[in-house]
Amino acid sequence: MQQHSISYRRRALTSGQISPTELVQELDAAMRRQNPAINAFISWDTEAALAEAASADLSLPLGGVPIAVKDNICIQGQPTRCASRILGNFVSPYDATVVRRLRAAGAIPFGRTNMDEFAMGSAGENSAFGPTHNPADLRHVPGGSSGGSAAAVAAGMAIAALGSDTGGSIRQPASHCGVVGIKPTYGRISRYGLVAFASSLDQIGPITQNVEDAALLLNVLCGHDAADSTSSTHPTEDFTAGLHDGVRGLRIGLPAEYTTGGNSPEVNAALQKTVRTLTEAGAEVVEISLPHTEAVVSTYYIIACAEASSNLARFDGIRYGYRVPDSAGLSDLYSRSRGEGFGSEVKRRIILGTYVLSGGYYDAYYTKALKVRALVAQDFTKAFENVDLILGPVAPTPAPKLHDDSQTPLSVYLSDIYTIPANLAGLPGISLPVPGVGKLPVGVQLLGPHFAERRLLAGAAALEAAWS
Ligand code: GLN
Repeated sequence: MQQHSISYRRRALTSGQISPTELVQELDAAMRRQNPAINAFISWDTEAALAEAASADLSLPLGGVPIAVKDNICIQGQPTRCASRILGNFVSPYDATVVRRLRAAGAIPFGRTNMDEFAMGSAGENSAFGPTHNPADLRHVPGGSSGGSAAAVAAGMAIAALGSDTGGSIRQPASHCGVVGIKPTYGRISRYGLVAFASSLDQIGPITQNVEDAALLLNVLCGHDAADSTSSTHPTEDFTAGLHDGVRGLRIGLPAEYTTGGNSPEVNAALQKTVRTLTEAGAEVVEISLPHTEAVVSTYYIIACAEASSNLARFDGIRYGYRVPDSAGLSDLYSRSRGEGFGSEVKRRIILGTYVLSGGYYDAYYTKALKVRALVAQDFTKAFENVDLILGPVAPTPAPKLHDDSQTPLSVYLSDIYTIPANLAGLPGISLPVPGVGKLPVGVQLLGPHFAERRLLAGAAALEAAWS
């Protein structure tokens, strides 16, 4: 896959081997050929991309490079539907800050990627536009919720893509599809123009073919944005600068809670292989404990659903998107538009979230979840007093089969146990593929302290180099 990376494409563009127009045409042809089987894209506007390619400025860092964008990130003049019926044929009147930054760096937003409706899911199956298939084996899911972005990159239909990660939705599909995904520190990348799911957890990030591409995209995407009140003023850095720092002398913690039972043999093999490689590269891997791990899934689903129930109240059939054609008054219009517009997982979460925020239960569930969230964050603060990075699995198993009836909503929620903690604590995490451990792709995850993206990228790059 290396030959299709951003840096490879940039060399081809700047040396005149390929023009931006030809590159858009090449990706369009790949989409036409492969998308019917994979369903990674729910729309793409070749004409708009060709118009931008015609005036692409190759002197800019991402000049002429098309980037696929998850369907919950606004692109001016393009449909932005969060893979939901409720948004109907909504076309965004403005660009998200990340899209504005991509354009300012010369990139061409091209293609809206499929996703779990409103980013709620772990398999890519909760889409009103049908499920995405895993390019490594079409009978399997690509993971979720940014399953379309990960599948598009893995299949070579996109050079790189943007995803969003509320509880693992960048890292987990990246792991299931064999690509790299990074969720930066909360606040590093502006959420302005990202349709909100759970605002205190949501974070945009890149899904790429390799670690260097992730760094190149972070260089463009990160930085303060006055339009997002939670945007961090932490200075941005050149994320490519530390790619060759290696891991010599680093202490890397492996949480005891992440290796007990539950994991499939492939996931354990990926972890063991990573520990060996890190040790050979001069790092010291030590066992640590994150004692509140057991509580992360319930804590996350209370907080995420509470925030979702509030954020999704705006989809009322009046201001945006879908509205029932006939109604017997206002409340009938609301309930039928929302009833027909939202899929079942979104409804389940609105109901759960409304329940935990209701008068009688607020303290018992929501306030308590906030307290446990603080304890989870404290586990990490303590752990990072003794280690530089934390290693863990991304998901307990490789990608499940599509339409797996043995899965219940609860068993799907439980599979998020390793990705959720970084969102609850606002920490950065990167997922990267471990080659040769199973028939389907399997990734591992590195977590770091707030704003330690460069250390994460150095660790991931060292592993990638050792395995290539
Ligand atoms: N799987 C998790 C959920 O369903 C995470 C989703 C996400 O990160 N957007 O909520």
